[in-house]
Amino acid sequence: MLKLKEITCKNALVKSRISGVDYCLNPYTGCEHNCAYCYAIFMKRFTDHSEEWGSFVDVKVNFLERLEKEIKRAKPGTVMLSSVTDPYQPLEEKYKLTRGALEILSKYNFPVHIQTKSDLVLRDIDLLKKLNEPEVGFTITCLNPEIQRKFEPGASSTEKRFEALKKLNQEGINTFIFFGPILPYFSDTEKSINSVFNKAIEAAVKYIYVDKMNYTPSIWARLNNFLRLNFPELLSQYQSTYYSNGSYAEKLRTKIRKLYKDSSFELEVVF
Ligand code: SF4
Repeated sequence: MLKLKEITCKNALVKSRISGVDYCLNPYTGCEHNCAYCYAIFMKRFTDHSEEWGSFVDVKVNFLERLEKEIKRAKPGTVMLSSVTDPYQPLEEKYKLTRGALEILSKYNFPVHIQTKSDLVLRDIDLLKKLNEPEVGFTITCLNPEIQRKFEPGASSTEKRFEALKKLNQEGINTFIFFGPILPYFSDTEKSINSVFNKAIEAAVKYIYVDKMNYTPSIWARLNNFLRLNFPELLSQYQSTYYSNGSYAEKLRTKIRKLYKDSSFELEVVF
């Protein structure tokens, strides 16, 4: 059961340290997609929730008002939606904070970079077409629907994400895939990596960014519980990627570079 809270925020347009991104917009704190490996779990300490990460969302109800004020004083730059939540999680259907933010950004001509796991982004194609240099990317972690649903229970299916990529390309919007985190055992085989590359060619994306599973102690603790419940037989395999991250990463990097032969999209390995 999701715990929803409406809150007010002090800032909307936040300066970013992500390469190629000047500002981040996070209209929500928390995320209904509830991914087992969620990298944004550290955000819980900025809330007063005692519930598990993934079971609460704070909605910043004054977000658009703040953004409208702050953008007038801001130096133009690329804006990312979102860095620590999903801008198109199911609540967005009702609150439309992401849609409202795109309306404001379209008036000020700031380039926009969207990354999501939800095909709800298709709702906003009309606005995306009005933006300066919009790019929309989908995170892809696994092509097996059952495994994907376990790891990302609240997000759109991988199939829907690829369909949405095709639709966005047909509408003339630049797209990319963030293939990551590559799930050990499920997505790190040559066959799986090749299949994702082939789907990317089919969807005509411009770039693929590839990332491995990145662990912090809190991410690992959450993932460990998830694996114990869902895939106990894989616990030791995941443990080995956690404790010997350097050598696992090196092998994976080599495998990906060897498999990348197509020049119809650009590849960036980010680990
Ligand atoms: S979509 Fe992103 S922010 Fe949301 S739970 Fe998944 S990893 Fe976390």
